[in-house]
Amino acid sequence: MKHLDSHFFRRTLHRVLDFVYPPECELCQVPLANGMYLCSTCQNALPRIQAPFCERCGEMFEGNIESNFICPNCTTLKYDFAFCRPVLLSSEPARDLIHKLKYARSIHLAADLARITAEAFDDPRLHQARKEKWTLIPVPLHWSREQKRFYNQSRELTKHLARELSLPWCDALVRRRATMTQTALNRQHRLKNLKDCFSLSSKGKKWRESKPSGAIVIDDVFTTGATAQECSSVLRKIGIENRVVVTLMRG
Ligand SMILES: [Zn+2]
Ligand SMILES: [Zn+2]
Repeated sequence: MKHLDSHFFRRTLHRVLDFVYPPECELCQVPLANGMYLCSTCQNALPRIQAPFCERCGEMFEGNIESNFICPNCTTLKYDFAFCRPVLLSSEPARDLIHKLKYARSIHLAADLARITAEAFDDPRLHQARKEKWTLIPVPLHWSREQKRFYNQSRELTKHLARELSLPWCDALVRRRATMTQTALNRQHRLKNLKDCFSLSSKGKKWRESKPSGAIVIDDVFTTGATAQECSSVLRKIGIENRVVVTLMRG
C-alpha cells in the first residue's frame, strides 16, 4: 500500500510540475507536450542496432555478411536464453539517458525509453512471444538498492513495455543479496559475483503455477550477459521452456 501511495504521489507531483514547468526534451531542451520527455527527433537520432548482428547477443557486425552470424564471443558461451535483442547501440546520448533513469531519479524517462525498447519486438524472432503472450520479467534489484534508488529502472521499463505491447508482466524474480557493482568486472567475475543471486519470488511462484508459455527478461543494458544469464538460469530451472532477453541498449 505504501508503495502504491508513493507511486500515486509521484505521478500527481509530476502532473503538477508539468503544468507549472512544461517539460522539455531531456537531450535538446525543445519544449514538449503530451507527457513526453524526449522529442521524436532525438528519439529517432539514437543509433539503433541493425543487421547484421550476433544472433545471440545483438553485437553489431561491421561489414557485409549474408549468412546467420554468431560473434566469436558467443560461440564459446552457453546461455540459458535463446537470444538477447537489444535495441540501441551504445552511444553517448543513450548512455546519458540510461544513467539518468538509473541514478538521477529520472523515472519520467521510463515511458519514452520503453517505447524505444518496444522496437525489439519488430524482430521476427519475437513474433511468437507476442502471439503467445509471454511474460515480461524485470531484472530485480536488491531491496537495499531499490530503497536507495526509490525504484527499479528495469521494472519501470517493463511496466510501460507491458502496456505498450499488451503483454503480461510479473516481478517473478528476487535478488537475494546485494552485490558489488559490476561495472569494473569482466564476464567471469560478474558471473561469480552473481552466482545464486537470483531466485523465484512469491509472485513468481504463483506465476509459475499459471503454466506460462515463455518469459522475456527485461533490462536496461546487456553488457557481458552475466545478469541475463543468471536470471534465465532460474527460469530454466523452474521449467520455463521459452526464455529470451530484451534490453534497451547493448553495452
Ligand atoms: Zn530533443
Ligand atoms: Zn554475440
